[in-house]
Amino acid sequence: MFFSNLETPLAYLKGVGPKRAELLQKELGFFTYEHLLHHYPFRYIDRTRFYKIRELNPDMPLVQVIGKVVSKETIGEKQKKRIVIKFEDETGRMELVWFQSLKWVEENIYRGNTYIAFGKPNFFNGSFSISHPDLENYPRQQTGVAGNITLQPIYSSTEKLKKAFLDSKGIQKLIYQLLELHVNEVRETLPKYILEKYKLISKKEALISIHFPSNTNMLQQAERRLKFEELFFIQLQLLHNKHLRSLKFKGALFDNVGERINKFYNEVIPFDLTNAQKRVIKEIRIDTQRGTQMNRLVQGDVGSGKTVVALMSMLLANDNGYQACMMAPTEILARQHYESLVGMLNGELANVAILTGTTTKKQRAILHAQLENGEIDILVGTHALIEDKVKFKNLGLVVIDEQHRFGVEQRAKLWRKNSIPPHILVMTATPIPRTLAMTLYGDLDVSVIDELPAGRKPIETKHLLESQRMRMFGFMKQEIAKGRQVYVVYPLIKESEKLDLLHLEAGIEQLSYQFPLPQYQISIVHGKLNNVDKQFEMQRFIDGKTQIMVATTVIEVGVNVPNASVMVIENAERFGLSQLHQLRGRVGRGAEQSFCILMSGNKLNPTSKKRLETMVRTNNGFEISEIDLELRGPGDITGTQQSGTVELKVADLVKDQVILKEARNTVIEIFDLDPNLENPDNSLLRSFLAKKNTGISFDKIS
Ligand code: ADP
Ligand code: MG
Repeated sequence: MFFSNLETPLAYLKGVGPKRAELLQKELGFFTYEHLLHHYPFRYIDRTRFYKIRELNPDMPLVQVIGKVVSKETIGEKQKKRIVIKFEDETGRMELVWFQSLKWVEENIYRGNTYIAFGKPNFFNGSFSISHPDLENYPRQQTGVAGNITLQPIYSSTEKLKKAFLDSKGIQKLIYQLLELHVNEVRETLPKYILEKYKLISKKEALISIHFPSNTNMLQQAERRLKFEELFFIQLQLLHNKHLRSLKFKGALFDNVGERINKFYNEVIPFDLTNAQKRVIKEIRIDTQRGTQMNRLVQGDVGSGKTVVALMSMLLANDNGYQACMMAPTEILARQHYESLVGMLNGELANVAILTGTTTKKQRAILHAQLENGEIDILVGTHALIEDKVKFKNLGLVVIDEQHRFGVEQRAKLWRKNSIPPHILVMTATPIPRTLAMTLYGDLDVSVIDELPAGRKPIETKHLLESQRMRMFGFMKQEIAKGRQVYVVYPLIKESEKLDLLHLEAGIEQLSYQFPLPQYQISIVHGKLNNVDKQFEMQRFIDGKTQIMVATTVIEVGVNVPNASVMVIENAERFGLSQLHQLRGRVGRGAEQSFCILMSGNKLNPTSKKRLETMVRTNNGFEISEIDLELRGPGDITGTQQSGTVELKVADLVKDQVILKEARNTVIEIFDLDPNLENPDNSLLRSFLAKKNTGISFDKIS
């Protein structure tokens, strides 16, 4: 054979062949032995536990029963033809039924013999049965690399694979065989001293035990080893990238605290910075005086005042002869930023411009010229900023708002905008749980604004049921009478867009009835409006000309109307937790007491209930994000947030925080002691990194 190791194509494995190999590739993305070996079970069934027939109940998942075949009958015709076996132990009798593989049962199962039947028990017409059970001779005689199977692995499969007999059991057989023939080719991936230090079992033992654990202790050891490895190599890559960047990239020097920033701080800024804001600005100052490129993530709950931190960083760039830009995920948000920057600057100190998808060709041409000759100090915009046509005279700093919508590659693209790559400051209002941040953005330094501006009153949150709707309207009237403004938000979920619009329309009708003209004015904003109309409606609300803003989730991020003090969220049970928190953050921006009212139907599933309870209980974004992660599972979060992020096979970001910390600290220590991995003990790590395309091509940039 031409292949000597685990990189052999699956088609060569006995029992696979070209057709099934193609299916495995299409359905699961597996090409080689190695891929299949790394397809871990998602759960296990205890095969040391046997049930008596009398113990069965229909709620049990898979069970095994030892019994004797007392009769075997073929009944029915054509489609309905089946084999029914009466199966009994000393406590009772049940049926085993086959609709398929009849021939096999005919030829291999004998009346009078004792078997282990394994499957899902059903209860029907007063007796238990199992359809298509696995039958094994009793006592078991299986031996091999994995010994007797005590914990049966269950593998995920797909409909198409199942049709090709690659259900969980079929996959199990292949993997079993693979291990028997090739387990000695499995190479260790972690240095010996790490295995010893953390008492980890070898890769080979771990692979055997993750598939065919001899007991739960071995399974745990295998999981721990594989989780550590998984998280370790992610950290190794991230921190290696970071290390390389600091070696390779010079950063613009912002060592002059000049006129603009001083004037802004001493004369223009309308409030005192919070200590958290000051601390973060200091961290940015230190980063930008180092001569290396800054890559910093600023996490701060909604309303914590990230914009002014961004602005001061940009003024710092300007003071040192560099331009800055600020990128937002949506047009509306870009516009808001633009306006709040211009507002905070009183129209002085810096020349601020905006560039978005709707900027006309003519304006664009002017902007491009002004950017290249350095007339524009600060450019705000959407994705339009990353287009190659947009060239700066001397870009020194890029601020990215709402990080999670920008992938790693997009970040990298920004670096090419200048001969020295600009400093990068990423701002996120979605508090990312620490573990997730470490995994996804482990190559960024993190600053946290963990303090709200003084004088803010915590938002009061109430959960009301449909039956209490009149109370909600009454409360809205009361607040509007005090001169406040109110948001009413409806969910908009793609799959049921029509239904959602119906909800929205019915809601608007009811609101117009409760809040009649001319006393009350209502702004309406939803996804079907064009940008100009949207802008017009928003502006009316911002200017205080309307008291109520009815909206779908388009207002989710960034809108800043300090006079709005009530947020009503309709069908709140249909929103995710972090989305609810984001929406709530639209109020509580002024000096007045603010409120958030969560409206929901009377019937709630446990998850929705927990979400709403959490919202009522706490305003702490970090706590909320942890619970969100717990409720949704990290898969959801990584899956929907950005491409190019890591996919975890065994580790769980919620449950494995301790291992993650261990892995990260280990990597930090390694780079401290041996930054270029020259020590022979680290040769495995060195070759791992050499093989990996680390995502950023360093040659292309500098
Ligand atoms: P976010 O972090 O959600 O982006 P913003 O930057 O929009 O928050 O700030 C929210 C509001 O708080 C704005 O109106 C802003 O002017 C105000 N603000 C920011 N920092 C302070 C401060 N230190 N003291 C008082 N108000 C502040
Ligand atoms: Mg903001």
